[in-house]
Amino acid sequence: MGNLSAKLQDIYDEVLTRNPGETEFHQAVNEVLESLGPVVAKHPEYADSAVIRRLCEPERQIIFRVPWVDDAGTVQINRGFRVEFNSALGPYKGGLRFHPSVYLGIIKFLGFEQIFKNSLTGMPIGGGKGGSDFDPKGRSDGEVMRFCQAFMTELYRHIGEYTDVPAGDIGVGGREIGYLFGQYKRITNRYESGVLTGKGLTWGGSQVRTEATGYGTVFFTQEALRARDSSFDGKRVVVSGSGNVATYAIEKVHELGGTVVACSDSSGFVVDDKGIDLELLKEVKQVRRARLADYVELRGNGSSHAEDGRLWEVPCDIALPCATQNELDEADAHTLARNGCVVVAEGANMPCTPEAARALTEAGVIFAPGKAANAGGVATSALEMQQNASRDSWTFEHTEERLAEIMRGIHDRCLETAEEYGSPGSYVAGANIAGFTRVADAMLSLGVI
Ligand code: GLU
Repeated sequence: MGNLSAKLQDIYDEVLTRNPGETEFHQAVNEVLESLGPVVAKHPEYADSAVIRRLCEPERQIIFRVPWVDDAGTVQINRGFRVEFNSALGPYKGGLRFHPSVYLGIIKFLGFEQIFKNSLTGMPIGGGKGGSDFDPKGRSDGEVMRFCQAFMTELYRHIGEYTDVPAGDIGVGGREIGYLFGQYKRITNRYESGVLTGKGLTWGGSQVRTEATGYGTVFFTQEALRARDSSFDGKRVVVSGSGNVATYAIEKVHELGGTVVACSDSSGFVVDDKGIDLELLKEVKQVRRARLADYVELRGNGSSHAEDGRLWEVPCDIALPCATQNELDEADAHTLARNGCVVVAEGANMPCTPEAARALTEAGVIFAPGKAANAGGVATSALEMQQNASRDSWTFEHTEERLAEIMRGIHDRCLETAEEYGSPGSYVAGANIAGFTRVADAMLSLGVI
């Protein structure tokens, strides 16, 4: 971990002691604190009112039992979480993750990131995150529905359009949001559209929400390229993952003239020099819910599948890690730089290890952290909330233009803030500081609560 000033080191030490074993949360906090040195030097009022210490302690943490019955009639027990981290800027907002790796430390890292990301969008949303260690892989639709109903049977009492607005994340897509919304509606007897985002288009969802995280990451990258008189045109791109974020990142890269030559899932990765066939990828991953190896079998044109090895060894100009936390390490960062990669933009939350992020920056690779680069998803969720509140629905074109505008705004705010605080060109410093100051100023106005 990097160097912190004495004041910030004390705060970090307190986080370590109060949250033992939560390594991902520690990592996320450290990464933000590393950027805040010049901010506390310039604004002693933040330290005086303990804003940073308060930010590191969630406002509320809910952990609950989720009992449900599988198709074989066996009772299954999972653990559910909702961490309501900060509501200075608006209702808690952030996704739900269903994955066997989920424990409190993962939800807290994601919730902490979400505070700054949401602040950076400039929209009225606080930060939160939730989920479960439930593994949807291999489960029938009926099992997923019963799990979602059991999960919402507890969660409903903690959420609401003015309180806390969950959405999707890994393992939670349109199907799960549907079951969750159905159960919320049944229990409360309210058609409260704004309580969840990522809804279907016929029942309160927003155009572009499905595509938004992937599209937004590519829009942000396009801005970073544009600032250096470059573009996606003719670029080779590697995208990790093949879920929601990766799929729509690939779609937008292709629209902008780049070629995505590789993507991955938990079974390995596919290299397709002619460019990933997006319709086939959607058929394999979204319709069949199958493994990526099937892509190569169906494609049959010289694409290949590797079970072992590192995706990041596939040479590229641009890398978009869109799978999960800590998937790109220091050795990968060196490989990318050596192969001439010029930009790494995080579509996932914290996919680069701290060592990787540092190595990329030192090698002169443009590095766009997830807080900025993947904020398009939650920003479009905020647009969905706006549409729900006004009982309106916007066209795809209008919504996409709003998203592009928001990503341009985030990009420019990062660069201006980085410049102002003495780290010109650093998207990491810009995102952390701009995200922090907006939420910290709101907290100062609201008093010690
Ligand atoms: N899970 C997404 C994220 O990491 C979206 C959250 C939302 O739309 O509320 O930002």
